[in-house]
Amino acid sequence: MHSLKVLILEDHPFQLMALHQMLNANGVFDVLTAESVESACQTLSRRGRVDIAICDLQMEGADGLALIRHLAESGLAAAVVILSAAEPCVIDSVGVLARQLGLNVLGCVPKPATSLVLHQLLRRYLEQENSTRAPAELPVYPQLLNLTASELAQCKDQWVVHYQPQVNCDGKLVGTEALVRWQHPTLGLLTPAQFFPLIERAGLFDTLTWHVLDQALAFSAQFQTRTGAALPVAVNIAPQLLQRDDFHDQVKAALQRHAVPASALTLEMIETAGSALNEEQLEGLLHLRILGCQLSIDDFGTGVSNVQRLLELPFSELKLPSEFVRGMAQDGRKAAVVAGALIMARRMNLNVVVEGVETLDDLLAIKDLGHPVMQGYFIARPMPGAQLLDWIATRTSAGFKQLATA
Ligand code: C2E
Ligand code: MG
Ligand code: MG
Repeated sequence: MHSLKVLILEDHPFQLMALHQMLNANGVFDVLTAESVESACQTLSRRGRVDIAICDLQMEGADGLALIRHLAESGLAAAVVILSAAEPCVIDSVGVLARQLGLNVLGCVPKPATSLVLHQLLRRYLEQENSTRAPAELPVYPQLLNLTASELAQCKDQWVVHYQPQVNCDGKLVGTEALVRWQHPTLGLLTPAQFFPLIERAGLFDTLTWHVLDQALAFSAQFQTRTGAALPVAVNIAPQLLQRDDFHDQVKAALQRHAVPASALTLEMIETAGSALNEEQLEGLLHLRILGCQLSIDDFGTGVSNVQRLLELPFSELKLPSEFVRGMAQDGRKAAVVAGALIMARRMNLNVVVEGVETLDDLLAIKDLGHPVMQGYFIARPMPGAQLLDWIATRTSAGFKQLATA
């Protein structure tokens, strides 16, 4: 383990010593210790920035939150570990707060920490350090920042659509989500996070959305020609677009242009606290629903006005975001949120798509709660249309064995 500098805030002398020894056993010898927040702050100002601060919460005087705030303000720790005998939900909430304050939280760990846990946390830190951040992870490439709106619009042909399968609990494909990427000639494949800020700044969000809708419907139609049935596609729509009076006419025209039945199209709306729709816009959405399109609320539960929107608008589906789903097999609280949403959806006659299914454990935990549609890396990552066709062919012939028997 390469030489790291670690601060331990721990007011219990025995536990402090045990942690110190465990760090030494893991090859970490530059260990600073403090038994109070005050002395931790003094040590940091004297000895400078540490790689990791291991932070206890409960102690005489100022509690561990005070150190967390100090670290966030001073930038004196590259990462923190929260280690406490407090209730697990308190420890996790402190982790959430610390992240919100901008800290890199390596882990939220109940006491007593074992040498193995410590080893894993140190490894995680070193992996983060070593992963020379791939350019693909940068928020926005500097060379794209100077593009004018019209130069950006000229790149439209490079905005390609990838499709992520959605399967039911038997592993049967029931739909796909269209997710846009920018296939840049020199920078490679860019994800929405890497270029949406530019699109928004240039006022090109509507252009992008119609472009994606058009490609997704063309793909669905191509699938229809091959197999006789249109491929169900879900397209993400910003709420501002829904608020345009001619929205439903344009969607209807696009469906007709591609001869795709409305039942094959789901419009996924990302929740925002934006203004409510007027009567005409609501009527437009109802037209689309009557026509047979599905209307889905994306990332349900992460915004402020979700439930209100759910009651106001004619949704037919809700999507539970990765945040609730990832790790739910090990986290009873997440499982409770998912279970509650499934019950609510059932009573409201809504379909549910559970996103972010990354592991077999989580998939099994979801299957225990009901039979929602699932989407996530465990099933498949988003992929180009041609690759999806191969994926479907292989899956169909394999009979989704892995999922079906899971
Ligand atoms: P979203 O609509 O909630 O899409 C799901 C995101 O989760 C996608 O990220 C997908 O690649 C990712 N994902 C899928 N499975 C997993 C998993 O198992 N674990 C994890 N951690 N993530 C998973 P992506 O493609 O980067 O898109 C991010 C967001 O950008 C989308 O979130 C959506 O809000 C927006 N977006 C993407 N394409 C479009 C588009 O064509 N139009 C509009 N308006 N927004 C789009
Ligand atoms: Mg979506
Ligand atoms: Mg989502």
